[in-house]
Amino acid sequence: MSKGLYYKTKDEIELLRESSLLVGKALAEVAKVIKPGVTTLSLDKVAFEFIKDNQAVPAFLNYNGFPNSLCISVNDAVVHGLPGKYELRDGDVVSVDCGVVKNGFFGDSAYTFAIGEVKAEVLHLLEITKQSLYKGIEMSVVGKRIGDIAFAVQEWAEANGYGVVRELVGHGIGRNLHEDPEVPNYGKRGTGLKLQEGLVIAIEPMINMGKKGVKHESDGWTIVTADGLPSAHFEHTVAIGKEKADILSSFEYIEEALRKKN
Ligand code: MG
Ligand code: MG
Repeated sequence: MSKGLYYKTKDEIELLRESSLLVGKALAEVAKVIKPGVTTLSLDKVAFEFIKDNQAVPAFLNYNGFPNSLCISVNDAVVHGLPGKYELRDGDVVSVDCGVVKNGFFGDSAYTFAIGEVKAEVLHLLEITKQSLYKGIEMSVVGKRIGDIAFAVQEWAEANGYGVVRELVGHGIGRNLHEDPEVPNYGKRGTGLKLQEGLVIAIEPMINMGKKGVKHESDGWTIVTADGLPSAHFEHTVAIGKEKADILSSFEYIEEALRKKN
């Protein structure tokens, strides 16, 4: 499904930043309203309206026939969950994945929300998953390789006793939602594509509280953990940098919205 390897110009990276920040703002709109009792479909609607109001198009809507703007994956759902009638409950953890296309360029980012009072051990899974994303981002500099990112994510997750999903991976992003290279969350240091300026990738650890295995749900979309234990997912769109990675998406809007609620 990936569509080739493209290095971006500085101007193109600014357009990717605009799209990626819009995703962060759309997720912040979700953050404002997410709470026990709301349906996942109502969250999808919030994002759809916000993206449209900002002269952009939801990237996931109709992608390979996907029927919604957000992927919303609750508890043991890892990714690609379908918004629907399910009402969020106290103690749920919810991965919300959002993509947009604006000016011909895509942005892609995901955040896992804790609903109400969540068990400490599950909050720890969320924290470590987010940290593993930033471990991968630290490796997203010129001269490192895809395997260095993959290894950094895997090492941190597994050091904490968690399972790293193998079947789904991060990806290049640009004028297409999914471009080369694949960016796995497991791998060997010093292997894979050498990172250069102009490369933009989505890094997205999917980390399971229990074992790494996943399976498909009968809805044809949702991926769930095989052992039924919770999973977490955080994603940033990132441009490879000379000294330091340039994170094009942002969790700041989301986390500001969450702070204001509390
Ligand atoms: Mg995504
Ligand atoms: Mg992605």
